[in-house]
Amino acid sequence: MQQNVDRSAFFPRAYDGFTGQYIAGRWVAGTTGATVLDRNPYDDAVLAEITQAGLSDLAQAFAAAKAAQDDWGRALPGDRAAVFLKAVTILEARKEEIIGWLVRESGSTRLKAGIEWGAVRAGMLEAATMPASAQGHIIPVDRPGKEARVYKKPVGVVGVISPWNFPLHLSNRSVAPALALGNAVVLKPSNDTPITGGLLLAKIYEEAGLPAGVLNVVVGSSSVIGDAFARHPVPRVLTFTGSTPVGRHIAQVAGESSLLKRIGLELGGNAPLVVLDDADLEKAVGAALIGRFMHQGQICMSTNRIIVDASIYDDFVEAYTAAVKTIKYGDPNDPATLVGPLCNDSQVRNVTESIARARQSGFRECVSGPIEGRVVAPHVFADVTNDSEFARNEIFGPVAPIIRAANEAEALAFANDTEFGLSSAVFTRDEARGLAFAQRIEAGMTHINDITIHDYPHVMFGGEKNSGLGRFNGKWIVEEFTTDHFISIQR
Ligand code: NAP
Ligand code: MG
Repeated sequence: MQQNVDRSAFFPRAYDGFTGQYIAGRWVAGTTGATVLDRNPYDDAVLAEITQAGLSDLAQAFAAAKAAQDDWGRALPGDRAAVFLKAVTILEARKEEIIGWLVRESGSTRLKAGIEWGAVRAGMLEAATMPASAQGHIIPVDRPGKEARVYKKPVGVVGVISPWNFPLHLSNRSVAPALALGNAVVLKPSNDTPITGGLLLAKIYEEAGLPAGVLNVVVGSSSVIGDAFARHPVPRVLTFTGSTPVGRHIAQVAGESSLLKRIGLELGGNAPLVVLDDADLEKAVGAALIGRFMHQGQICMSTNRIIVDASIYDDFVEAYTAAVKTIKYGDPNDPATLVGPLCNDSQVRNVTESIARARQSGFRECVSGPIEGRVVAPHVFADVTNDSEFARNEIFGPVAPIIRAANEAEALAFANDTEFGLSSAVFTRDEARGLAFAQRIEAGMTHINDITIHDYPHVMFGGEKNSGLGRFNGKWIVEEFTTDHFISIQR
């Protein structure tokens, strides 16, 4: 294994040949000596052999970010914006290549990979508007000759830990605004998606002209570098996207850092989709199908519970069952596939356990099918009770629980009876009724007459309760990734 060689010369054309880390603008091997085979979750084909980062790599990455940030923070807003506009042209030119990586490394269907590519493109365009949006204030105060100004500044270095489910988008959702606002970044992708979650993104920004050291990617085992990343004193802000238990742990460890830092947590969900008695049944069925089965259910906003008013319950179950039976599952590269492979074996175990739990509880199994390799066929269980363990957990797989609610009041109580509060949806033909219902849902996001999965780069994104802390996108992320400095002048 070659150590610390500049590998960029090996892959000037295709984005290929990823082997390790991107630190201080150099493509280097991780120093632990360990390697991890990055495999296609559908057929186990080896995509890359990734050398793993250790504590010294992490230290170098944060040092590089710290050293590079000052110049980058002073760069003209137009020069920072230009990097994102260039990145968009690269993304467009390499669209098929990037979608291919998402399909191969994260088990994304072509449908989902295309949506993810679009979300990254939209996020880059939004980031191009951000350098000029860090605006301050001049505020009148009751003191003669005093001028009070508030300057908005980059925070410095931002640490980003991202998950494997929407690796390119969920990394970029933090990385792009953090960079655009003049910060430097150290990114740790999931070891399940080192390329699409990190190295590929770094390649795009490198090609777009981002100066060396401004973005660094460390790939390694969470048990080796995870706590050190969260505890590191350099990042002033840490954003974590992933599961609630790991998010809690990161918050605890970050609290032990010698320098206090802000943390943003985008965590798990248990999204309810509520179908009221006056809903358009066909539309509700379609939304509950896509919202549950898109990306095999591995989305934080996935519809995790379908709560249906008793008056239309039987009709809904019948129509939903018929629709789910038509879903094509299997090869993610087949454009007709909606349900591809789960991302890893622990996901397969978790989802298999969820199915077993539903069966043990005696819930009515309306749709089922085989589990072959990492492909779990769509499952639907009806007559599920809202307080069962099956319904309380985030399933994160292609398994749909349907719950009967006696009336609107019970539907609302069920929707809110969860530790999570990320996304949600309600179906009704009466817009005012939908709005009133939506306002009483304890969640960060509620969609009337639509699926539970929406993420726009200029619209607030975030959760309540155990779904997280802080807000992403648009002006909300500008607040997260900047700090305010009160400077007064006495005349
Ligand atoms: P995860 O297991 O919590 O992992 C998330 C990230 O944290 C990965 O990069 C993981 O690396 C890393 N990690 C694990 N242990 C760590 C530690 N001790 N210190 C530092 N980093 C550590 O979550 P996941 O299974 O990848 O993703 C699924 C979960 O994410 C679901 O609960 C889903 O709802 C949630 N999610 C939330 C949002 C949102 O916006 N709210 C979006 C997407 C997903 P390794 O994988 O290499 O261990
Ligand atoms: Mg893999």
